[in-house]
This record gives sequence, structure tokens and C-alpha cells, in this order.
Amino acid sequence: MARIYIETFGCQMNEADSQYIADRAVAAGYAMAHRPEEANVVIINTCTVRDNAERRAYGRMHHFKLLKARDPAVRLVVTGCLAEQDRDRMRGVAPHVDAVFGTKELVALGDRLDAWRTEYDDVAAIGDERLAGDDVLTEPFGGTPDGIAGAFSHLRAFVTVQRGCSYYCTFCIVPHVRGRFDHRPAKEIADEVRAHVQAGAREIVLVGQTVNAWRDAGTGADFAELCASLCGPERLSFISPHPKDFSEASIRRLAAVPAMSPRIHLPLQSGSDAMLRRMNRKYTRAQFEERVGWIHRYLPNWAITTDVIVGFPGETDEDFEHTLTMVRSNVFANAFTFMYSPRRGTPAAQWKSVDRNIVAERFRRLVDAQNAATSAYHTSKVDTVVRGLVVGTSKRDPTMLTAKSGENVTLIAPKPPGFDEARYAGTPWLDVLVEEGRLWGCRGRIVRRAAGIADEGIAVEAPAIDLIAG
Ligand code: SF4
Repeated sequence: MARIYIETFGCQMNEADSQYIADRAVAAGYAMAHRPEEANVVIINTCTVRDNAERRAYGRMHHFKLLKARDPAVRLVVTGCLAEQDRDRMRGVAPHVDAVFGTKELVALGDRLDAWRTEYDDVAAIGDERLAGDDVLTEPFGGTPDGIAGAFSHLRAFVTVQRGCSYYCTFCIVPHVRGRFDHRPAKEIADEVRAHVQAGAREIVLVGQTVNAWRDAGTGADFAELCASLCGPERLSFISPHPKDFSEASIRRLAAVPAMSPRIHLPLQSGSDAMLRRMNRKYTRAQFEERVGWIHRYLPNWAITTDVIVGFPGETDEDFEHTLTMVRSNVFANAFTFMYSPRRGTPAAQWKSVDRNIVAERFRRLVDAQNAATSAYHTSKVDTVVRGLVVGTSKRDPTMLTAKSGENVTLIAPKPPGFDEARYAGTPWLDVLVEEGRLWGCRGRIVRRAAGIADEGIAVEAPAIDLIAG
């Protein structure tokens, strides 16, 4: 049987695109491979939002040359933002790549997979030989990109509601490679959500570059109305909104949607008005704080997470202190923090950069502050039972299961005795009694599992304690 392996870098938008590719591939008759060396077709879904992501994607392309050296029938495909931006350069530096598809060519990529699939009908023996080889290619570098495979992968589905962005933040390449806003009609979104729910999805993640700017061109319905209209998912979440597009009324309406996941990602980027202006973020610090106030008022138990950039061109010590005080106020349960890196083709790439040592020092202070806040948030869960949707076996420890709470907190717990993937896929809501809060999430033990998010659940036997080791 033909096998496909998809490696995804970057944002949730890319996750959603990878899911579309996986769905098309499975519909065409491919099986999902867990490792690149098991696959007939290897797809790298690239990101260009940071220099590091770009270098990793090129590194991965070169690495996969080995697969093709061993079996020339293997096809290597590159898609995503880097493919959109670097198509011509890629042909020169990675001529072994078989096909390049930009972010607006996913349908054509699916069609190509259809066309290739029959060519692999007779290659099971070759594939199996390749599997028996001992020089596996998985994880040659520190980070592990997300792959799509596994018994629980259908439980959480990404649905793209909007592509592109028209906001042109001065540091961001997205509008340049993905184009301006393109909102999908509400009916199309509702149909896709329904299809995922019928296929077993318990959580739907609505994805867009500025997801809450979504509007239905026909009816004028806004994002909160879209969320309220979607029936079926037990849990509904979204990523990534823009602070500018939240009004008090829209937050109030989100609070009235029972399936909403209690987490809101509100990208701050900087706590300094001067920097926000230079970034073209379209809000002031006071307006950002106003939105935080609305969230606290209408969504009191929701976790707020954020993105912060340190060392944007022109950032002074005073600008940075404004960001640091905001983070130190413990408003954010978690944050993605970045040192600014210039992206070719953006206005900020032309501006004088801040000294690297100064940026590194500011970054360290910011990370320390946010780490303290995140650890405290996770520690606040100790001795409580947190319900999460099972994700799969922990990447670090095969004896542990991973789940994600509604606040997007990672929950890790030992697999209970007699753990069976198929049974747990049918009762995927796990109640974890948290015993320890750490920076990365919470560790505990599973006390119940439930078929539905609102079900009481059935008790789960605790793993036996190893008395000898103890
Ligand atoms: S809002 Fe700004 S950062 Fe977000 S995708 Fe649009 S341009 Fe990029």
C-alpha cells in the first residue's frame, strides 16, 4: 500500500493545511506513515515566519536526499510558506525535490497525490525492505516537527476559516506569501465541521491568520456568530485572533457558546506603544489591556496566552521594560517568546537592528519572568482534577499518555493497566488528578475516562506501584 509521511513546521495554519493533505491522501488510498523512511511520498510543510524555521526546512530537504538515494521512487514534496516564497531558489539548491506547491495550491497537491498513488500499488515489497533498513532518518535534529498519524489523531480537527491577512504588521511575511484576507463562507465551514464530527472529531480548532476578523461575505455574520452557529463539536477552540478584532460584545457572545474551550490567545507582541506603532499592530497597550479586562469580566476562568517579540528594531530599554512589566503582572498563563529576526521582503528588515547581546539579555529576562508565571499557573492545578482530550503517547516516555486540557495545558500521566488505544479512542476525555505542576504542563494520574466531555466518566485503575523500586 502507498504510504505518505507529512512533516509540519510552523503555525496552526500549516497544521490545518497538513490535515487537508492527509485527508486527501487517505481518501486517495494512502496510509499514513509514522516515519519518513516508511513512506513512498514525503511532504515537508514549511514555515518562513522565522529564520530558524527556514533553515530547518532546508536542512530537512537535504536530509531526505538519503531516502531518494536508497529508493529513487520515493517522492519528496515541499509546500507551505517557504515553498511560496522560495520556489525558484529551491529548484537551484534542492534539485532532488520532486514538486513544490505554494500555500494556494493545496488542491493541486491533492490531485497530484491522486495521480501518483497507483504507481505505488506494486511496491509493498520495496517498502518493506526499506523498513527493514537500520539507518533510520527520523529526528536528526533537536526539535521534533509534528507528524500526522496515530489512533487519536482524528479526535482533534483543524478547520481553516480564513486564509491570508491584510494587516501587514511590519515584521511579518504572511501577507506577502499568503495574500490578503480570503474568508470561507459560513456554510462551507459548517459542512466541514459536521464532516469531521461525523468522522469522530471531539474538538474542532478554527484556524486563520487573524481568525476573529472572519466575516461571511453573504450574510455579514462575524466570528462570534460563526462560533455560536457551529453544532456538534464537544470542544471548540480557535487560533490565532488579533486583539484589534475583539469588541466587548464579541467577547460576551463567545462566553455564551457552551462548547468554547476556556483559552484565548491574545498576541501582545510588545507592551510599548511606540513599538506597537512601529510594528503596525493597530492597537495601543491601553486597548490591549481593555480586552484583557473584558476577558476577565466575561470569561473569568479562561487562560490567556500570548506572543511576544523582543528586540524589534528601535526597541529601547524603556520599551522593553513596558513589555516586561506586562508579563510580570502574571496576566499570561503561557507565552511564545521570540527574539526578533528579520524576514526578507518586510519593512522591518530594512531597519537598523538592536545589538544582539542586548536582545539576548532582554530575552533572558523576559523568558525568566514568563517561565515563573507559567510554572505558577500550572502549579495552581495541583490537587485538582483536570479534564483533557487524549492526544497520544508521550514523545519522551512511551509509558505515559498525553492529554490537552481546555486551557491548552499539557497533561501527562502513566498509562493505566490494560491500556488499549482503541478503547481510549472511544472514551477520550481523561480526568487527570494533578500531582505536580511544571513549566511544560502538569503531571498526574488518570482517575476517570469519559466518552463525552460532559459525562461523569468511569473510574480508571491506577498503575501498580513498583514496591521493589520504591
Ligand atoms: S496580523 Fe500581523 S502578524 Fe498576524 S498574520 Fe497578519 S500581518 Fe502577520
